[in-house]
Amino acid sequence: MAQGAFRSWCESFRARAQAAGISDACLAAAFDDVAELPDVLRRDRDQAEFTRAIADYLGRAVSEARVTTGRQILRDQAPLLSRIAARFGVPAEILVAIWGMESDFGRVRGDVPVIGALATLACDGRRAALFERELIAALRIVEAGAVARPEMLGSWAGAMGHLQFMPSTYLANAVDFDGDGRADIWSDNPTDALASAAACLVAKGWQAGLRWGAEISLPPGFDLALAGRDVRRPVGDWAAHGVVLPRRAFPQEAPAAILLPAGHRGPAFLVTDSFEALRRYNAADAYVLAVGHLSDRIAGGESLRAAWPADQRALTWDEILALQRALSAAGFHTSGADGLAGPNTFAAIRAYQTANGLPADGFPSEELLARLLG
Ligand code: CA
Repeated sequence: MAQGAFRSWCESFRARAQAAGISDACLAAAFDDVAELPDVLRRDRDQAEFTRAIADYLGRAVSEARVTTGRQILRDQAPLLSRIAARFGVPAEILVAIWGMESDFGRVRGDVPVIGALATLACDGRRAALFERELIAALRIVEAGAVARPEMLGSWAGAMGHLQFMPSTYLANAVDFDGDGRADIWSDNPTDALASAAACLVAKGWQAGLRWGAEISLPPGFDLALAGRDVRRPVGDWAAHGVVLPRRAFPQEAPAAILLPAGHRGPAFLVTDSFEALRRYNAADAYVLAVGHLSDRIAGGESLRAAWPADQRALTWDEILALQRALSAAGFHTSGADGLAGPNTFAAIRAYQTANGLPADGFPSEELLARLLG
């Protein structure tokens, strides 16, 4: 986009920001030297092309190096993490795992000026409304004096600090845990950032004393139609149906679902309401499983027992689209075809698998696509 177009967008935005209550002084200071950031747009375009199989994603996210560093941090920061856990009910190892996932334990917090990044994305238009809301939130943070504008740095998408909070997340959840008068998620000191992450998880439904979940074993002949986020049953019911739970106990009455993130040939997980809280923090199942498993490893746990299907890869956007069209054409309607596998697609796959005597795990695999197109 030409700088002229960016300039004129900035002018029209300033009027909207004023209407939202941002002061002239704050806007003048923030927009005096703001510039469109071409790198931000390039990164935004690249992001959608990442399609990794979950095994590959988890392998990178839960690397031995990260587990080792996480264990060291769990020891080094034990006093702080215990105080946070005592106040919020979020275990130390969960916070360390998120810290590792988000910023490599504070080492990669981003050095992009957040206001410039958000202005660039809001002007670009692809998700204009979202980024404009975040830009106004960022201006509120500056106006409140929480951070000096030159220190308000973050990722290309405007995520800030140790836990990569978006500005709206900061406004809703940030905590001044060390009591110095401001919630500081940007500086080298991670105290406020870690406590803010715990506060955020509690706001999103984290249950004190309830683990995120665990790897489980399914009994032979288990009805795969019972796997999936929408089938939530008390832990005790699953156990009564032969699901083998780890020794570390879950409350028998806690609602839980069974996830098969790589289909019936891969590992199986029981996930609780605390998993759902993590999911409201970041909606990708792969991310949440990585946080959960990394936290278990950091707390001294073992690697997963079941192997991931070695020959399996994630379908591309085009392939998902082809799968959706083929399912719909075969009478298993996916309610539209958008190249993204969601609940309707999983349900259609299940219906097709059931009708064809296949294991009904709802998983969009290469074999399934080949069979449908064949
Ligand atoms: Ca503070």
